[in-house]
Amino acid sequence: MATQRILDFLATRRPDGPCLVVDLDIVEDNFNAFRKALPDSAIFYAVKANPAPEVLRLLASLGSNFDCASVAEIEMALEAGATAKRISYGNTIKKERDIARAHALGVSLFAVDCVEEVEKVARAAPGARVFCRVLTDGEGAEWPLSRKFGCVPTMAIDVLMQANALGLTATGVSFHVGSQQTDTEAWDAAIADAKYVFEALADKGIVLTLVNMGGGFPTRYLKDVPAASAYGQAIFASLSKHFGNRLPETIIEPGRGMVGDAGVIKAEVVLVSKKSDEDANRWVYLDIGKFGGLAETMDEAIRYPIVTQHDGERTEPCVIAGPTCDSADVLYERTPYPLPISLTVGDEVLIEGTGAYTTTYASVAFNGIEPLRAYVI
Ligand SMILES: *Cc1c(COP(=O)(O)O)cnc(C)c1O
Repeated sequence: MATQRILDFLATRRPDGPCLVVDLDIVEDNFNAFRKALPDSAIFYAVKANPAPEVLRLLASLGSNFDCASVAEIEMALEAGATAKRISYGNTIKKERDIARAHALGVSLFAVDCVEEVEKVARAAPGARVFCRVLTDGEGAEWPLSRKFGCVPTMAIDVLMQANALGLTATGVSFHVGSQQTDTEAWDAAIADAKYVFEALADKGIVLTLVNMGGGFPTRYLKDVPAASAYGQAIFASLSKHFGNRLPETIIEPGRGMVGDAGVIKAEVVLVSKKSDEDANRWVYLDIGKFGGLAETMDEAIRYPIVTQHDGERTEPCVIAGPTCDSADVLYERTPYPLPISLTVGDEVLIEGTGAYTTTYASVAFNGIEPLRAYVI
């Protein structure tokens, strides 16, 4: 949602070009909502969702920990005031020299999903704690993250045993139920898998302590989504169901749910046209598209709310496209998007729910268009 602070900023500063405006008050509200929803879980903000220094500094000051995907992200979290103890290197695909650099910076918690990665961590970060990511089916998620990361639970047993054998501390199990997960029950099967791995390792004399329950918490786009508290209740119920009264330490890694609704992109209509006199749909071209930061419109997966000055007037289904000379730069075509007929060249539109996964997805200079500018207020 465009907050009054964002609207005031746009009205007074009138920044040119497409730009993202992020309201830190919303980020703070989201952080507090997660803390309240799962008071016993440590929050590791997924830096990749929006690594703006102001966002990281705010979250560091609120006591957040950080899930980082690279050495550069680790450095950003440190720069923002986090200590290395509050950082995990959560990418399962790491160069050995990057593991060594993270280790040198003091990071001691690493994600793995295969024996080959365990071997790298054992060589480059001796003594570190590792958790093994297990696969999930990603069912119920609008942006699945499943197939590429994780291994089956039976393999996780071998991975963690090998970690222990190589002098690492086998700490626990992680998973990610898929991003923009609208089913509050989606965590249950993965928590059951974690319990299975915990028991198998206990049988071998290895005590796991940590379940990293990943991200997936949704932000509101066109449809309402359950509140953080509903996820908290469902997750706590699953933890109790599978672990009884011996609850493990837990981590959550919200990215989208922490910053998505804190950001709004201001964009401009560059052209409105039809392809033939009989064309059922108008084509509305904006000054931002897939290469300017809206990459999550890929396969029309994420459908952003678009606010215009003509809302309430009669609408017509439109194809919405970006400004670049690439025909892949179409946002919504398979499911055309209703926009007011009076929408015209030069009109400003607000694209809501764009605080996550936008600025860093913008190309460097495709067609000479500068990367998406961001104002954090
Ligand atoms: C991307 C990512 C997250 C954040 O996911 P959201 O769906 O944005 O909350 C959390 N953990 C890991 C390991 C990730 O890769």
